[in-house]
Formats: sequence, C-alpha cells, structure tokens
Amino acid sequence: MSALLDLLGDTLGPGGIQTGADVEARRRGDGNGPHGVLPDCVLRPRTTEEVASVLATCDRLGQRVVVQGGLTGFAGGARPLAGEVVLSLERMRGVAPPDPASATILAEAGAPLEAVQQAAGSAGLLLGVDIGARGSCTIGGNVATNAGGIRVLRYGMFRDQVAGLEVVLADGSVLSSLSGLRKDNAGYDLKQLFIGSEGTLGVVTRARLRLHPKPAGEVLAFVAASGIAAVLDLLARLRAALGASLSAYEMIGGTLYQAVALEGALRMPLAAGAPLYLIVEVTGAEPARDRGRLEAVLGAAADEGRVGDAVLAESARDIADIWRLREALGRYTLKLAKVQGFDIAIGLDRIAAFMEKTGRAVAAVSPAARVLVFGHLGDGNLHYLVDDDDPAIAKAVYGCVAEAGGSIAAEHGVGLDKKPYLSYSRSAAEINAMRRLKAAFDPKGILNRGRIFDLSGDP
Ligand SMILES: Cc1cc2nc3c(=O)[nH]c(=O)nc-3n(C[C@H](O)[C@H](O)[C@H](O)COP(=O)(O)OP(=O)(O)OC[C@H]3O[C@@H](n4cnc5c(N)ncnc54)[C@H](O)[C@@H]3O)c2cc1C
Repeated sequence: MSALLDLLGDTLGPGGIQTGADVEARRRGDGNGPHGVLPDCVLRPRTTEEVASVLATCDRLGQRVVVQGGLTGFAGGARPLAGEVVLSLERMRGVAPPDPASATILAEAGAPLEAVQQAAGSAGLLLGVDIGARGSCTIGGNVATNAGGIRVLRYGMFRDQVAGLEVVLADGSVLSSLSGLRKDNAGYDLKQLFIGSEGTLGVVTRARLRLHPKPAGEVLAFVAASGIAAVLDLLARLRAALGASLSAYEMIGGTLYQAVALEGALRMPLAAGAPLYLIVEVTGAEPARDRGRLEAVLGAAADEGRVGDAVLAESARDIADIWRLREALGRYTLKLAKVQGFDIAIGLDRIAAFMEKTGRAVAAVSPAARVLVFGHLGDGNLHYLVDDDDPAIAKAVYGCVAEAGGSIAAEHGVGLDKKPYLSYSRSAAEINAMRRLKAAFDPKGILNRGRIFDLSGDP
C-alpha cells in the first residue's frame, strides 16, 4: 500500500488520495447496506489520464481495485472487499452543453444522472433514462449497470442511450469511441462490452449519450386492476392505440399499496383494496389527442370489467404526487427489517403463471411472509420482495425464475449479492465465456474481482 501511495501521490495531487480517518463510512457499501470493509485508501482522479495512471500502477503492483460511483447500486458491486483500494470517479463530474446537431451530450463518469437530465432539458432535449436515484447515481454507474428505470418501454435501457464511451482498461490503456458515429462497423463495437459489465472489464471515464426531443406533454393515469390478466390485456390495448407514445407502464401490488397508504404520508390517488394498481404514462407530440385515446382505452376496458377505478392527473401537482408515490414504494420496502428483494425479468407471456407459482412456492417456505410486488411491468421487470429472510425463499423464487426462462438480474446487476444465483439465468458455457473476456481485458484480475462471477482459483 505504501508503495502505491508513494507512486500515486504526485499524480493525483491535493485531495486525490484519502486514507485513515479521511475515509468516510459510506464507502463500506451501496444501496444494499454498509456490509463491506472500510477501505484503507480511496483514489480520486480528476482526469482520464489520472485514471489510466492509477490503473497502470495498481496493475503493476497487483493491487486490487473496486470502482465506486454514487453508491446507489442494489447488487453490492461497489462494496469493498478486504485488500481492495477504492477508485472513485467523484471528482470527474463535468457535463458539456448538449450538441444539437447530433442530439448528444458528453458527460464525465462521475456526473450525477440528474445533472445530465437538467443540461439536456435546458436545451429542449430529453435523456431517455430516469431512475429514483437520479440525484446521487452517476453516469459511470449507470453505464456499468446498464440501468433501466421507468421509461425503458419507450427509450430502452442505458445501453440504448450510449452513442460512445471512453474506458480505461486494467493495464491503463484507454479505449475511446466518443465521436459517437451512428454507423461504424469497423470491427467489433467494443463499447457494448463495458455496458452492464459492472466495472469488471474496464473503468468508464466519459460517455456520449443520445438525447431525444422533449415530448410536448405528459398524460398520466392511475388505474386499479382486477389481476395480472387484466394488466396484460390493458397493456396490449394501450400499445395498439398509442404506439410509441406509451412511455411508462408501472405496476404496484395491492398489498404494497395498502401498506404505503397505511403510513399516511402520501396523497393516494385511489382507495386501497384492489389486487393491483397501474401507473400509465403517455408522452407524445399531441397531449390532447393522447389524453382522448387513453380515456377511450380505459373506458372500454372498464366497460368490460377489466379495470376498476381510474383517475387521470389533472395538474402538475397530481403528476408529481403519483411519481412521488411510485418512488416511495422502494423506500418503504428498504425500511423492512427482514426483507429479501428480487429484481427479476419474466417474459410477458409467462408472467401470470410465474406470479401464481412463485406465490405458492414462497408460501410453502414461509406461510406468513408478505409478498410485495412493484415494477416496470411493461418491460416484464418485477421488483419482487418477500418479508422474510429465510435463504430457502431465494432458492424458491430463483427456481421459479429459471423455470420461466427469466432473469435473476433485470436491471440492478449481479455484483456480489446475486453471484451465487447466476447459474439460474446463465449456462455454464455463458459463464465460461464471461470468464474468458475477463481474462482478456484484465489478466491479473485486479478490477472488481469477484463481482458477477468468481475467477478460477478464487475461494
Ligand atoms: C432510490 C433508488 C431507485 C433506483 N431505481 C432504479 C431503477 O429504476 N432502475 C435501475 O436500473 N436502477 C435503479 N437503482 C439502482 C442504482 O441507482 C443503479 O444501479 C445505478 O446505475 C448505480 O449507479 P451508481 O453511480 O450509484 O453506481 P455504484 O452503486 O457506485 O456502482 C454500481 C456498479 O457499477 C460499478 N461502477 C460505478 N462507476 C463505474 C465506472 N465509472 N466505471 C466502471 N464501473 C463503475 C461499480 O463498481 C458497481 O459494480 C435505484 C437505486 C435507488 C437507491
């Protein structure tokens, strides 16, 4: 460690290295809790060249490194293990003005997502990804986790926003595709490998992100539904009627809705008691027409008994209140003492059978456990939470995910916490191919080692 500090002290300059009492307690973990060791040292470069020097030096010394962004992840990927130093991108927060010609924006990896959203918005443009952690999560973390969020239905995941990347490999070499060409088939599209690789293949230092025209308006409905079949039926009708302007389709389970309502802290749009609730967002070029179409679809579904009560937001305040409720769901579940959270994806054609079967499997392990569900239903992504920490529940849920051909990590990644379950979603051949990629980009295994999968020989 002292050799590392001697070598990097001059390179990183004042404030570039934190040790001892300067290392803050928050460094121990991410959104899943402070379960890691307090690192001996935090390296805080200001430029890509400094990141390259840090990694080249660590690689030469065989020093393991864990990369930290905003520490809002839900997979333990940024949580330090014994013997690791932290590489934090927090001093690289620059955001350039959007380029209107290419409709892109260049941001440094440590820039908060919200800063990029605001810069885009001030130029009449929109970044397609939005998540509840927008004020704290970073562009580097968003790329590394391939973040999703509420508007994937319309704009895709973070991968779809990335026009170009700058990445530093474990040996300090810099790969750059920041020119952001729309067409570039000159060999492999290397940037794709780093998106969603959770910092195991390289450190993201800058990203060029695609922007979209800002929609003319937002029409938002809050709907009570009789069950998952009705939810899927309504989704199909809305897609047919609204096409690409259907931008969010979020589901909330009745048990969770009732629990949040009982806290009494929020204005709830509808009375509790329905099996499921939906937030339906339509953002298009003609809000008045979109509203008419949405009302017509909801009216027809209600006439057939598919959906119950529904309200349309009438003001900016109504809209803000509904999204505030959506963001309160995760916060409510994080407060529960023994909760286990599963971030899963299931094909929409299998989701009804999956929910029924998984409910039975959980009840067989723990008859009293509450199942709290919410999520990005339009993408087949459920945040499935069980109010009991018995490890047999994780096996039961992931067993049902595997049987349904689903994913154990829809948008939060695998990190350290879901690593034991990777084989429920990926074959041995796939995991082996991932190991070979890791060996090619980081032969000494210094970078985020042990995240997603173990390297051969690791305990
Ligand atoms: C309230 C709340 C709501 C959320 N909602 C959503 C949601 O809707 N959708 C969603 O997808 N996620 C959501 N998340 C999870 C989280 O915000 C995302 O995973 C986010 O992308 C993590 O970014 P971060 O900067 O905090 O990364 P961190 O937590 O610091 O790190 C996450 C992973 O990325 C790696 N990493 C970080 N920066 C870099 C870099 N520059 N280069 C290489 N690797 C790096 C880390 O090593 C780690 O493996 C939510 C979290 C919270 C707290």
